[in-house]
Amino acid sequence: MSEERSLNFIEQIVEDDIANGVNGGRVLTRFPPEPNGYLHIGHAKSIALNFGLAQKYNGKTNLRFDDTNPVTEDTEYVDSIKADIHWLGYEWDKELYASDYFEQIYEFAVTLIKKGLAYVEDATAEEIAASKGTPTTPGTPTPARSRSVEENLDLFARMRAGEFKDGEKTLRAKVDLASPNMHMRDPLMYRIKHAHHHRTGDKWCIYPMYDFAHGQSDSIENITHSLCTLEFIPHRALYDWFIKELEIFPSHQYEFSRLNVNYTVMSKRKLKQLVEEKYVTGWDDPRMPTISGLRRRGYTPASIRQFCERVGVQKRDNMIDIGLLEFCIREELNKTANRVMAVLDPVKLVITNYPDGQVEEMAAENNPEDAAAGSRTLHFSKTLYIEREDFMEEPPKKFFRLGPGLHVRLKNAYIIKGESVEKDADGNITTIYASYLPETKSGGDHSGMTVKGTIHWVSAEHAATAEVRLYDRLFKSENPGAEEGDFKDFINPDSLQVIKEAYVEPALLQGKPGDRFQFMRKGYFTVDPDSTPEKVVFNRTVTLKDAWAKEKGKA
Ligand code: ATP
Ligand code: MG
Repeated sequence: MSEERSLNFIEQIVEDDIANGVNGGRVLTRFPPEPNGYLHIGHAKSIALNFGLAQKYNGKTNLRFDDTNPVTEDTEYVDSIKADIHWLGYEWDKELYASDYFEQIYEFAVTLIKKGLAYVEDATAEEIAASKGTPTTPGTPTPARSRSVEENLDLFARMRAGEFKDGEKTLRAKVDLASPNMHMRDPLMYRIKHAHHHRTGDKWCIYPMYDFAHGQSDSIENITHSLCTLEFIPHRALYDWFIKELEIFPSHQYEFSRLNVNYTVMSKRKLKQLVEEKYVTGWDDPRMPTISGLRRRGYTPASIRQFCERVGVQKRDNMIDIGLLEFCIREELNKTANRVMAVLDPVKLVITNYPDGQVEEMAAENNPEDAAAGSRTLHFSKTLYIEREDFMEEPPKKFFRLGPGLHVRLKNAYIIKGESVEKDADGNITTIYASYLPETKSGGDHSGMTVKGTIHWVSAEHAATAEVRLYDRLFKSENPGAEEGDFKDFINPDSLQVIKEAYVEPALLQGKPGDRFQFMRKGYFTVDPDSTPEKVVFNRTVTLKDAWAKEKGKA
């Protein structure tokens, strides 16, 4: 993380608070996911911000599951969220659940009823909406607004006891029906939901709304800086009102822009649809913007943290180019990934003047960016595989690869000269014939000969077969969520290309899920968990081409 950059506006607030002795200089943040899906890259930004702030200012961060909606939540999500935060490299102080505060939040509601600041409503959702007025005209009170404290206490206790059906009653705060902020016009505090909760079971049939759970949970935990996304700005007045009226610890809410990344969607609800309707193989499909998808795709925790750092924290919504994320992983893997040779679209190459049956061991450097990465041994023989695209029968002038009469270097081996080809009945090349120049062996080449191109290869008898999965953007549209109609109509039908038989260096058979390599000239790849001892499966994390740097160069 760069230390030179100036403070973001939230760090500035925290530094001011510390300087002014607010809360004795204590910093306690929280990350509050609702366990209704897997975390995505947008959550990573919130995690990096909350945990990063605490780290920077000697504070702590709680992990609080915002599990106030029984219908959509599940322990599978709780487990995946914890695993993802750990994987990103962060440690929470306490693991907490808003549902653990249900009793206390209920008592808070009773307090407000007693103060004449909350009442039990009989009106339906539609009737409430209709009586709220418009931003320019005040709302009109419903008959329930004038209920006595005693009646409200009785009705609220009976709501809890299960005497009413879903939707029959709600609890509303008595704030201000004329407020220009619609959220202050007697907002809902509780709704009835006869539903099983993944942690509290059937104990409750009334559940607090977000606005009467979030700030209260913050306050119960003594959270100092409660960070949320911009859409919660209009909720802040209510957040403060409840805390003031309840006379509880004054947590404060601060809003930052949510992360949007192009060519994907970033809402758990939409991501869930992709999973359930089988547009992808699961939450961890490498095309998904989820943390688990990015992990399977080959992204590292450091690259995601670096991305969040570069994105920064703003007060205005914007759209971030996916190229920035790709830039971050490319930059890291360039330093850390060992180079190997893999032929993705193989065609056979026979070296006519190389002795039958001879095998030579060639030394190959693992990573030119990192001397400590050492070297490995490659086997060279008469019959090799090269990429089909590295040969042209009638090459144009600037084609510096192989063709009849053209010279090219085989990486870590010899210079060869193209001779002839063999084709099948359809005219497809099945074998390329070439001759080698024995005096040009890499490492000991004193021939003085230079060639413009170097291509990769694998020895046919030594190579291992691999499946290689190439990914493209999941959506054709830059902002599928904002398109008219169904966002799924904008799915890219070519987002996955599977190569069933690629040939790779045999040592790659030993690759473990998560191992990362640079396939020379082809990109960065990682071993997929679908791999077996017989067949290794690779995911392409990112291509080598640095589209992002080019874009920046233009600017
Ligand atoms: P989604 O719409 O994807 O379900 P959410 O905001 O409902 O998102 P939560 O589980 O409630 O998801 O979010 C947990 C925390 O992560 C919240 O503080 C929320 O503001 C933050 N968060 C969610 N999405 C983003 C995003 N795209 N950028 C930054 N922060 C986000
Ligand atoms: Mg949410």
